[in-house]
Amino acid sequence: MNLKAKLSQVWQEIDLCLEKSGRRREDIHLIAVSKTRPVEAIQELFCQGQVDFGENKPQEIRDKSRLLSPSIRWHMIGHLQANKIKYVVGKCALIHSLDSLKLARQIEQFAEKAGIQVEVLLQVDLARDGQKQGFLDRDLEMAIEEISSYPHMRIRGLMTIGCLVENPEENRGLFQALKKISVDIQRKNYDNVDMSFLSMGMTNDYKIAIEEGATHIRLGTAIFGERNYK
Ligand SMILES: *Cc1c(COP(=O)(O)O)cnc(C)c1O
Repeated sequence: MNLKAKLSQVWQEIDLCLEKSGRRREDIHLIAVSKTRPVEAIQELFCQGQVDFGENKPQEIRDKSRLLSPSIRWHMIGHLQANKIKYVVGKCALIHSLDSLKLARQIEQFAEKAGIQVEVLLQVDLARDGQKQGFLDRDLEMAIEEISSYPHMRIRGLMTIGCLVENPEENRGLFQALKKISVDIQRKNYDNVDMSFLSMGMTNDYKIAIEEGATHIRLGTAIFGERNYK
């Protein structure tokens, strides 16, 4: 199936979920996860109206963004190393994967020098699958208190990666937990922090994530087919 057909099929499924959960299209940002995919494929989707693309390697954002329309909104969804900050800060619409205070400080310093404002989501490690990607929920508040004092960084919400499960229902509890954490944080009214966004749900489990309040779903395989890392 071509990309255009895949994309409209995905939207049909999203619309069904939205209807089921009484939500609207405006509530959802579909991020096409284009890691490992060629710029031609991204361009084709862009021509179909897809503007949000996600990458997990800073170099891919750097290299692809040079070749494509500046109207594309890039989302950094993978672990970011300090020496690659320069490739993404100022080039991405949103960093979903802020996963440590150390990284937050380094991004803030870079953003200050560059005179720009950075929007981030805090990645929360709810799966606890040993990948150690993200803050533990017990460390979140301390991190938010510090980051909320950073003049060049704004926290817009939370992100998580579900477990690798056969039945996506198994991730429902995890998505509910992320939503609950975001509601609790919002209630505390930190300066410079809002909890508008919940980035959760991938090809395997995005329908459950939408039902549980996702605002950003990150789909690779559903749109582009299986990835080939070779
Ligand atoms: C690769 C990736 C995705 C997309 O995964 P699919 O299963 O192909 O939809 C989503 N989020 C993150 C963080 C990823 O690394």
